[in-house]
Amino acid sequence: MERFICPICGNDDETYFFKRGEVIYCRRCISFQGELASPEAFNVEEDDVSLTYDLSIEQKDISSRFLNSFKAHKNTLIHAVCGAGKTEIVYETIAYALNEHMHVGFATPRKDVVIELLPRFKEAFKKARIIALYGGHTSELYGDITLLTTHQLFRYQKYFDLLIIDEVDAFPFKGNETLEHIALNSVRGNYCYMSATPDENLIASFQNEHSTFLELFVRFHKKAIPVPKLIWSVGIIKYIILICKLKKYQKNHLPCLVFCPTIELSKKLYLFLKLFVPNGTSVSSKDEERMQKVQDFKDGKYMYLCTTSILERGVTIKDLQVIVFDAHHPLYNRYALVQIAGRVGRKIGHEGGEVIFLGHRIDQEMVEAKKDIESANEHL
Ligand SMILES: [Zn+2]
Repeated sequence: MERFICPICGNDDETYFFKRGEVIYCRRCISFQGELASPEAFNVEEDDVSLTYDLSIEQKDISSRFLNSFKAHKNTLIHAVCGAGKTEIVYETIAYALNEHMHVGFATPRKDVVIELLPRFKEAFKKARIIALYGGHTSELYGDITLLTTHQLFRYQKYFDLLIIDEVDAFPFKGNETLEHIALNSVRGNYCYMSATPDENLIASFQNEHSTFLELFVRFHKKAIPVPKLIWSVGIIKYIILICKLKKYQKNHLPCLVFCPTIELSKKLYLFLKLFVPNGTSVSSKDEERMQKVQDFKDGKYMYLCTTSILERGVTIKDLQVIVFDAHHPLYNRYALVQIAGRVGRKIGHEGGEVIFLGHRIDQEMVEAKKDIESANEHL
């Protein structure tokens, strides 16, 4: 019998296959089911893509180097610090691809980010037809630019001439072989990975003649990333520190995110904090109203939010302060801590802010995260 390869996830391990009637199924990607897109079914018509955005000199430089890499048929890894303006860096290459009538995809592991990106892309690419695909929202498969979660990439096989995957180091994409297969299988041209915190293995895999590795250490506003303060404390003292900080921020009208390692802890912590500090709430991935709560927080309705890692990435809030509660927890590795710290000081004119890692001890991950931020700041 001829060796069977799963067309969706690329699996060729026989033990994963089973037959029902004459049809072969693959257990490895059985959860990825739905309508598939055909590359022949859609032609990109764009000729004159209008772009409205401003780039810093540093962004422009990376932008044109990415375009050259794509024109040379290379895959690219862009390492850009939190707040560097990663999304805008790839616009120029997307516009080029559209003018060449190519299929363009922009994927990210997280649904909330896809939803947030849609209006931004519509604003930048006024003439292009832009669609968004994520769990529960998959009726349209064909657009000039397809924004989607990495989970939805299985619908596209050898489809994208240019595929950009943002936050490749985020859950659930990172370390998930099936999702990675599906992603690479969706590309017929070249792909670009983007991350604020790539690990050494990922960087090494892009350091060869077929790939390009680009780094952007300067934030869009060219000010330093706030360096975290590491505070060690246990018992009642850590709660007193937290309450004092929140009261101080509130007095100065500064909103604060309090990151907690688990949903359970985030809820409990809020129930305790609200006895002492008003104007807060808690939010998590399980929370039906999370989008509304985050919007209310942005609008100033709440002064602090006890949150889990759902707000670790992608949020920009004016004058934000950040406290990581129980920062010694194993869930918080160096990369997660850098991402969290990267939420602070992103807005032009509001580049400062406090980042506090509050743990039972000061561990290696906390120290490494602080070092990573300090060395990025050295490029200023
Ligand atoms: Zn499969």
